[in-house]
Amino acid sequence: MFAEVVVNVEAQLKGTFHYFVPADLRSILSIGHLVEIEFGRHLAQGIIVALDVESPVENTKPLISLIDDEPVLRPWQIHLAYWLSKQYLTPLNSCIRLMLPPGLTRWADAVYDINPYWDGEGRITEKQGQLLALLRDNVSLRGRQLTREFGKKSEWKSAADQLVRREILRRGSVLDAPRVRPRRIRTASMVAGPEWGFKAAANLGRKSLQAELLLYLLSLDDPMPAEVDVLQATGIALVHLDKLVQEGLVLRSTAQVLVVPIVAREKYPPQYKSVLLRLPLPLSELEEVAGELKMHGLVVYSKQPVTVGLALPEQEVLLEVMKLRQAEIYFRVLNLLSREMQPVPLSEIYDRTGSNLNQLRRLEKLDLIRFGSEEVWRDSLMDRDFVTATAPELTPDQHDVWDQVREIMVFGRRKVKVDGAERYDDPGRQAVLLHGVTGSGKTEIYMQAIDLALKRGQQAIVLVPEIALTPQTVRRFAARFPGKVAVLHSRLSDGERFDTWRRARLGLFDIVIGPRSALFAPLKNIGVIVVDEEHDASYRQTPPVPPPYYHARETAVAAGQISGATVIMGSATPDVVSYHRAQSGQYLLMELPKRVMGHRLRVEGQAERLHIDSQYRQLPGSPQDAYEIPLPPVQIIDLRQELRAGNRSIFSRTLADAINETLERQEQAILFLNRRGTATFVMCRDCGHVLRCPRCDMPLTYHRPRMMLTCHHCGRQEPPHGNCPQCGSARIKYFGLGTEEVEARVQKRWPEARITRWDRDTTAGKDTHEKLLASFINRESDILVGTQMIAKGLDLPFVTLVGVISADVSLGLPDYRTGEKAFQLLAQVAGRAGRGLLGGRVIVQTYQPQHYAIQAAADHDFATFYLEEISFRTQHMLPPFRRLAKLVLADPIADRGKRLAEQLAVELRVHVREKVLGATELIGPVPPFFSRVDGRYRWQIIIRTPDPTSLLADFPVPKNWTLEIDPVSTL
Ligand code: ADP
Ligand code: ZN
Ligand code: ZN
Repeated sequence: MFAEVVVNVEAQLKGTFHYFVPADLRSILSIGHLVEIEFGRHLAQGIIVALDVESPVENTKPLISLIDDEPVLRPWQIHLAYWLSKQYLTPLNSCIRLMLPPGLTRWADAVYDINPYWDGEGRITEKQGQLLALLRDNVSLRGRQLTREFGKKSEWKSAADQLVRREILRRGSVLDAPRVRPRRIRTASMVAGPEWGFKAAANLGRKSLQAELLLYLLSLDDPMPAEVDVLQATGIALVHLDKLVQEGLVLRSTAQVLVVPIVAREKYPPQYKSVLLRLPLPLSELEEVAGELKMHGLVVYSKQPVTVGLALPEQEVLLEVMKLRQAEIYFRVLNLLSREMQPVPLSEIYDRTGSNLNQLRRLEKLDLIRFGSEEVWRDSLMDRDFVTATAPELTPDQHDVWDQVREIMVFGRRKVKVDGAERYDDPGRQAVLLHGVTGSGKTEIYMQAIDLALKRGQQAIVLVPEIALTPQTVRRFAARFPGKVAVLHSRLSDGERFDTWRRARLGLFDIVIGPRSALFAPLKNIGVIVVDEEHDASYRQTPPVPPPYYHARETAVAAGQISGATVIMGSATPDVVSYHRAQSGQYLLMELPKRVMGHRLRVEGQAERLHIDSQYRQLPGSPQDAYEIPLPPVQIIDLRQELRAGNRSIFSRTLADAINETLERQEQAILFLNRRGTATFVMCRDCGHVLRCPRCDMPLTYHRPRMMLTCHHCGRQEPPHGNCPQCGSARIKYFGLGTEEVEARVQKRWPEARITRWDRDTTAGKDTHEKLLASFINRESDILVGTQMIAKGLDLPFVTLVGVISADVSLGLPDYRTGEKAFQLLAQVAGRAGRGLLGGRVIVQTYQPQHYAIQAAADHDFATFYLEEISFRTQHMLPPFRRLAKLVLADPIADRGKRLAEQLAVELRVHVREKVLGATELIGPVPPFFSRVDGRYRWQIIIRTPDPTSLLADFPVPKNWTLEIDPVSTL
């Protein structure tokens, strides 16, 4: 038996390798297992991708050991890795690595124990003796533990190796759990079920004899035992019981004398029979005849003892016990935790129960609660607004969409009406493109789908753009699916990532939310994959990180096909290629109407809290919780006309008036600026020399507060030049506009306004991002000047104006997707505005008011934009009508780079000719727009062809080139 293995090393390895499987591993090995192998002369890790009876090569080395009992990859992941490798022309081991947690090699450790078959013979050195003694005491030890014992690895390693070679020690491998660094908040949660928990907690607190009596009574089966028995069994004095009776906690029956028959029934004399049959009865009831019966020897008197019993149900008794013991605090803690049913931050427990850490520790010792820790995914902003924990009733439009999605999830296809008759459309099309503006209710559809998947015993992956991975987003899912959500994000350390990966592998959560890499979480049985904001550029992996340069959306669709999961891609501004596929039937297109919704309780709660009148109205014909507000009006301002009218300021008259009004009404405004399109630069007025970064050749940007010239590409900084380095003139001018400049001008014009600037420079520090936003949301400032779009789901109820300082964003850049990007950006801006309770308006300033991307975005009109864009793409044979491949070479020596690039272009042309491929075009080599990065000269070749993957599959791309299939940008 042979194992086909992918070797997990940094170097890119094209193929797989075959290893011989030793007999002892045969029955336990399976696909996806992590094994130790000898690769070349070194030990390495490998992942088994197949098990074979034959090997294509004759001499195979044996597998050394199994590192972990559980496979590290699921079968669907292996398939997906093969797909990635083929699709993006990247070696399989690089693709496999995407699915392994970072630092896997670091977490693998060796374990040692003493060979039970060792006969104890042989010479042992002192060090070896120490080692053996330790192992005798501990049965087995890991490498890391040994290093701790000996101080250094070198202190024990060679001794251990020798003993292993002599078969005195045995060595195995384990995947060791990393020590996850403590996260930011500590939490506690209930371990025991509530009943058991309270019972156990009733033993806490001070000694109280009364409490002991209550517990004793609770422990008996007999609800009314004799008082004497109780007192005897507990050894507690009667006064304590009396107290309990006085307080009404215990009921007591009085003692009485009973008349009891002592002759057998058949011997009852007939004249007394009727009386005797009713016995035993209290003496008081039978006083008249009792004496007579006793005289005849038919009955005796018997004394019935006093009995006692609990006056309250169990739960309340326990509470009383804790009161008596002055241990109510424990009760309150347990009560809180049993109601919350999920980890609660310690600080919150202290606040709500008055407890302290010692008391919680006590509960933990008793195994009643468990301490844990959680990434702080809560913040002050989000805790205020209502989040639906239960699914709202869907609107009729959502219902239509959901019915179709459900059919796909359940049947793998949906019912369609053809000529009035219902039939099923093609099976196997499991990808859905859900088109609807932000706030149209897409997330509700995702959650319905996730809910269904979970009910079917499956799991779900939710991909969101990195910037949208906010506490708000997470909280919405966590509220609906408490305890089932894990979050992956870029701030996790390797250890935390590894931990999440392990939990996913163990099936400890059902939903993973995260950026593109969350797609590779080792879930067992995925039911649904959501790709929210599917057009977002962050779904694409791009250099300089290692390949594969995959697109998470495309990969999600492939993963859906492989695993059978339904893929739902959602966007207000779908990617043109995605939309084209949906229109041509490759994906299922579903649309939600253009409308912004809000949940009634959220809207009302916010209105009440903030004392504002909501402009949201109930949707006619919809469930009563669905409120809506119209999309905000968008006004386009022609900056050329402003110039003509003599207005040289960056604020058009309309925008200035709008800002005035907003400030007057004490509302808030956002001024949005895309710096790319309006890059600041520093130029000599006399000779026109532009100051550039010596490394990147990019124009330098002047930052006023730091008084530094900065390169936004590589981060290099230099002090401003007093004179032009070229001609020596002192007339240096700073052109263009950055956020700092906008801020300064706003401040000058509206000196009373408080301003927050939000861009990559102000948010560089940890958490400043959130702090800045928080201060804006708390109305500590009036105007937000920013380059970053406010993430979806963030509520800004007082923002009623969004001004786009210049929409001419990237329209001037030489890339075929600039129109699409401009549209997406503006449509997102317009879609984000006016969602507060007060509604709002958008003002877009531009020098190109007639541009279709700007026009369509202003009308919230994707359809029109799409038609224009797709006709442009048809004309120029651009995606989706052709596909692109981008080859880039970066070389520190300009001439050499050029020569190598020209050489490759020639080889490629020959290759294309040999393959007799029509409709294939080579562009380049040319220096791309970003022609120098980090001191290296870049050369670029673009291939435009129907199928770049098969074109390049057998073309050896030299190592120093990066290859991107379907690049998202050609800049
Ligand atoms: P999208 O994902 O398209 O941005 P959401 O699903 O987030 O839209 O919906 C926007 C708001 O409307 C959310 O606050 C959500 O709770 C609310 N909402 C969505 N569907 C309904 C519904 N059927 N009933 C009540 N509120 C709803
Ligand atoms: Zn000059
Ligand atoms: Zn630079």
